[in-house]
Amino acid sequence: MAPPFRRLLAAEIVVAPGVDTDSLGTFSGEIPRKDGLVETALMKAELAFDTLDVDCAMASEGSYGPIDRVPLQAGGVEIMAFIDRRRGLRLVETMSTHRTNWRMWRFRPRDPSLPMAARALGFPEHGVFVMRNSDYSEPVKGLETLEQVTAAVDREAARSDDRLALMIADMRAHRNPMRMKVLRALGGKLARRLGRLCPRCTAPGFGHIDSRRGLPCEGCGGPTHCIDFEIDGCSACSHAVVRVRRDGRRMASRLSCLPCRESLLGARHS
Ligand SMILES: [Zn+2]
Ligand SMILES: [Zn+2]
Repeated sequence: MAPPFRRLLAAEIVVAPGVDTDSLGTFSGEIPRKDGLVETALMKAELAFDTLDVDCAMASEGSYGPIDRVPLQAGGVEIMAFIDRRRGLRLVETMSTHRTNWRMWRFRPRDPSLPMAARALGFPEHGVFVMRNSDYSEPVKGLETLEQVTAAVDREAARSDDRLALMIADMRAHRNPMRMKVLRALGGKLARRLGRLCPRCTAPGFGHIDSRRGLPCEGCGGPTHCIDFEIDGCSACSHAVVRVRRDGRRMASRLSCLPCRESLLGARHS
């Protein structure tokens, strides 16, 4: 996070001491709603004010897991919240990604495929957790060598009701270089946004706040699900401006329009 903030904003990042973010929830095995992630990230950022006398704080929150529609494919979303309590700013930037080593594997004791699976997760550069398949409440963390991972898998499998151990990628950012890369990119996005000042009140962070759908259909002029225009806004003074689509399109294709598409396909079938 530090390099883009230093380069683009001449801002220095300091890590807040004594913040226990685990109190806001840890590994749960399921993907929470994005709204939940945004709330948690903002609450995390607020925690920094307990131990640091600063105007601004930020925190990140991420969630990774399988993608429902794409078998064997994982993805995730990273959220970064920024608060400037003096100006009353609360900003959130997000980034979706398919770049992740998120995976889970189940093993019986002494499974010969364990070393290859660990390497596929990026171990030892990327961390792994091992836990009983019947109970996720006590993950074994801090495993540094393949011998330690093997011993943990054998032990946890033996303790599990179904004699299986679960090995999962450690998604904590400090043990996951792929997450670090995504967070670095998101940090750059947030720093660039903070570099844009509101044209009315000059507060930092002027940028995209909403997209309106309903781009008119070229055939019937009715609204489609395509984005019609974007709205840039200020989170301090609520000034907002409408911005046309970057690609300059003012009409949607008839294929994006439900009534027109049905009559087009209907004509083709008859
Ligand atoms: Zn139409
Ligand atoms: Zn403003």
